[in-house]
Amino acid sequence: MPLKSRIRTIPDYPKPGIMFRDITTLLQDPFGFRKLIDDLVQPFTGNVIDAVAGIEARGFIIGGAIAHQLSVGFIPVRKQGKLPFTTIGQEYELEYGTDTVEIHTDAVTAGQKVLVVDDLIATGGTAIATVSLLRQAGAEIVGASFVVDLPDLGGRKRLEAEDVSVLTLVEFEGE
Ligand code: AMP
Repeated sequence: MPLKSRIRTIPDYPKPGIMFRDITTLLQDPFGFRKLIDDLVQPFTGNVIDAVAGIEARGFIIGGAIAHQLSVGFIPVRKQGKLPFTTIGQEYELEYGTDTVEIHTDAVTAGQKVLVVDDLIATGGTAIATVSLLRQAGAEIVGASFVVDLPDLGGRKRLEAEDVSVLTLVEFEGE
């Protein structure tokens, strides 16, 4: 079964008008999860990657598995106030208000080649803030990988305009 048909869509979650693309149905399928990680790792064969940065929370699951497969370390990128040690953060705009992503001050070493991972790219706000935060910390961004792209929201193009090479596996129309 193709990856796309293993992703469940929940209309009007978490608010009216949003089609929530739920990857838990893909993750709980052993063949689906294995294929997902293989498809996200394979394009980077031959690239030097020192660490994977996964964005809270679904990026932890996918990014952790990719890091394990590549035999590299994992950097958690978390929402404000969740990390226990000293942090640096990057604020980004939401439809209403702002949000902040954070990493530990010692999460990245200068020149480290980092792959960014999340489940889905919509407007790109979260991923662009993450890239900017990691670059401030001295990382070189190898690429950014997502299971799902919502091309109508333009995030992929925005991220590519920041000089990031983007990999996505599945596209859905709309929000
Ligand atoms: P954005 O910053 O707009 O690119 O939003 C990406 C973040 O929001 C990711 O961490 C996604 O998990 C989540 N997200 C946004 N839209 C959806 C959606 N339609 N279905 C599932 N998750 C979404």
